[in-house]
Order: sequence, then structure tokens, then C-alpha cells
Amino acid sequence: MSIPHYLREGYLTVEELKELIGLPSEERLRRGPVAIPECPQQIPCTPCKEVCPTGAVAMERPNDIPKVDYEKCIGCSLCVQICPGLAFFMVHYIGDRARITMPHELLPLPRVGEEVVLLNRIGEPVGKGKVVAVIPREKAKGDTPIITVEVPIELAWEVRAVRVVRE
Ligand code: SF4
Ligand code: SF4
Repeated sequence: MSIPHYLREGYLTVEELKELIGLPSEERLRRGPVAIPECPQQIPCTPCKEVCPTGAVAMERPNDIPKVDYEKCIGCSLCVQICPGLAFFMVHYIGDRARITMPHELLPLPRVGEEVVLLNRIGEPVGKGKVVAVIPREKAKGDTPIITVEVPIELAWEVRAVRVVRE
């Protein structure tokens, strides 16, 4: 049996993500923020399912990988705030931009309005974006601070972290 790329290399490709969970339609992505679970390993973990107020996170057994019913998701971000594996994100298309909501555990926490360096899943810089929302640790449902960053739409499925650069 061949080892999946994400296990060999330690990160998911967008193609693997599509195959594992399926992605929301463009129409859904434009309607509002929608949660994307990037959690491919079968581990006994269920906080994302338990915290979801609409039952959008499907997981029959605790070891199953989480999948989201994109029509039930209301974009509340609780799954992003609570996931201990930092594996949940939200994506929202607005015009030619996309807003990506992600965990951000490194210091410093970016500020709303700050320009940050956009990083892909392997930590490479891919551009610059603007922070549009921040939920600090003390206000997050779990222990995870989260941020929302606006990026060019063509980077919506690449950007999964940011670097704060201050003089
Ligand atoms: S964003 Fe809210 S509604 Fe959507 S899957 Fe996460 S917890 Fe559920
Ligand atoms: S809480 Fe996070 S790590 Fe746990 S199953 Fe859900 S997405 Fe995966």
C-alpha cells in the first residue's frame, strides 16, 4: 500500500483535500464563511463535532475524519477556535478577494488592519494580505487565538498561516 503524500511530506495538497473531504461550491463560498476541516488522520478526537451549534460536522465514530455539511455551516468559527490540531479553517470569497480564518498561536498576534506575509502549508511566503479580524486567546472558545486575513482569491486554497513583520 502506498503511503499518502500528506504522511510522507507532512502537509496536505489541495488535490488531496478535494479527494478526502470535497470542497464547497463557488456559490457557497460567496454566500458567507464556510468551515473547511484539513484533518486527514484517523485519530480519536471530536471537539470540532461537539462544539458545532448546527450539527454541520459529521463524524460517525470518534476515529473518523471530520467532514462538514457546507449547507449547515453558519460560519461561526467555533470549530477553528477549539481544534487542538489547528486543522480547521474558514474560507469566504468576496469579489476578487478571499477571507481565510485560521488559528494563530505564534506571537505576536497580528492587529486588525495590519499587513502580514502570507504563508502556504509548508511555510513558504506567497504574498501579502491584510488582517480583518482577530479573536484573542482569552475570547476564543478553546485555547486557540484565530485571525481572518484577506488574500487575493487565487491564493484562497494556499494560504494557511501568516507571519507578522514589525520594524
Ligand atoms: S463554523 Fe460553526 S457552524 Fe460551521 S462547522 Fe464550524 S462550528 Fe459548525
Ligand atoms: S478537533 Fe481538530 S484535530 Fe480533532 S478531529 Fe476535529 S479537526 Fe481533527
